Parts: sequence; structure tokens; C-alpha cells
Amino acid sequence: MVSYRVRDRYLSAMTQVPAPSPLGVFLTPVTPLQQNCTTVWCTRTNKAAVIDPGGAVDQVLGEIARRGLTLDQIWITHGHLDHAGGAAEMKEKTGVPIIGPHEADLFWIEGIPRQGQMYGLPEARSFVTDRWLVDGDVVTLGETTWKVVHTPGHTPGHVVFFNRASGFAQVGDVLFQGSIGRTDFPLSDHAALLDSITRKLWALGDGVTFVPGHGPISTFGAERQTNPYVSDRAMRSTPIARPATGPS
Ligand SMILES: [Zn+2]
Ligand SMILES: [Zn+2]
Repeated sequence: MVSYRVRDRYLSAMTQVPAPSPLGVFLTPVTPLQQNCTTVWCTRTNKAAVIDPGGAVDQVLGEIARRGLTLDQIWITHGHLDHAGGAAEMKEKTGVPIIGPHEADLFWIEGIPRQGQMYGLPEARSFVTDRWLVDGDVVTLGETTWKVVHTPGHTPGHVVFFNRASGFAQVGDVLFQGSIGRTDFPLSDHAALLDSITRKLWALGDGVTFVPGHGPISTFGAERQTNPYVSDRAMRSTPIARPATGPS
């Protein structure tokens, strides 16, 4: 049996959560872009969802089995290769539905094979979602409930998954520790991204811990303090107009 190295950076953040959480989380960085493929599960039912299976499908499924979890759903934040390139394979191997993103990312999803050739990942495939999401939708995983927030800017159909009971969000490529999503792609919109972050994400609460699509976890409150693009201070002065050049 192959042993898998799975980085479990969320555990250190969990030590700051006082009450027992109904939510479990492990991260598996996938593809050469080190995208944070995020497996979340309901600790009462052990039903799991994989958010953004960009690749390494067998590794993620192996870790789910090793932990005694049952994969129930695949959730997609946006149609970029590193987030969605393994969704078709994971659905074929497990039969679970693919949920998300917002329909405005269809052109990105259809372009995954072309993106894969550009990035040297010929195995990346397009997929057909079982459910497009819109702002305010609710998705259920076991006994956990998740609010869908439509956060256009990096891509037009980007969505964020938010679990209020655990103060936890998976925000894809909208917001990173110390940076924000790139907006130099077709149909990217820098002003819309700033609005998605400062109007929609900040409203979820400073205490929310988030996993970004790349890099370390953080909290919305910490980013409001220190993020050079979207801190409260930065937004009071002239916001940085140039797009961030972070991960895709
Ligand atoms: Zn992206
Ligand atoms: Zn990405």
C-alpha cells in the first residue's frame, strides 16, 4: 500500500477553535501550482466533500478511505485547471455528483484541456457539473450546512463555500494570505474582485478561518489588518489598482 504525504496545515488552526467542531478538514496540495485541494467532512456522519480536485485524484481518494470517510460530493470554486482538472476522473471513479461553480465559468471549464496542454498536464479534463450554483444557495454535507457566496472577479463564475457553524470558508483564488486573486484573465474584473472580498467575504465575520486556493490559511480579520490589497487601511486610501500577480 502506498503511503501518502498529506499536509494537514488546518490542524494547527483548529487548536484555536474552543468548541468541538462538527467539521473535519484536510488539505492536499495538487498540481505543480500547489493548489490546496480541500477535503471537508461532517464528523457525525463521516460524509466528505472534496473541494477543487485539480489532480492527484487517487491520492485524495486514498486519504479519504484511510480516514474512514465516505466521499459524498465534489465541489468546485471555479473552472481553472488546477482547481477542476481532476473532477471528471474523481466523479467517474466514485459516482458522486459535481456541484458548482457558477455557470459564468462554463467557458473556463470547456477550456480545461487547452489549459492542461499549456501547463503540461495533458490528463486534465473538462467535466459536466450536476448543479450550477448561484449566490445564496445552500449545500448540505451530512449534518453540516454551507452557504454559497458568488464572488466574481478572478473568474466570473467563482464561488466560495462557507460553513457558519465552524467559522470556516474555502475561498479558492479570491483571497490569499497577503494577496488577492489575479485579474489578468479574460473576463476577470479587478473592481468586482475587490467588491467580492470587502463587501461579501468581510460580512461573514473577522473570526472566519479560510483556506485559500494556494498558500497558508488565514482569517478574514487578519487580512483586514494586514493584506496590502484589501485591508481596511488600504481601502480607505487609494486601493491598489494593478492586478495581483499571484497564483492562478
Ligand atoms: Zn484560479
Ligand atoms: Zn488556483
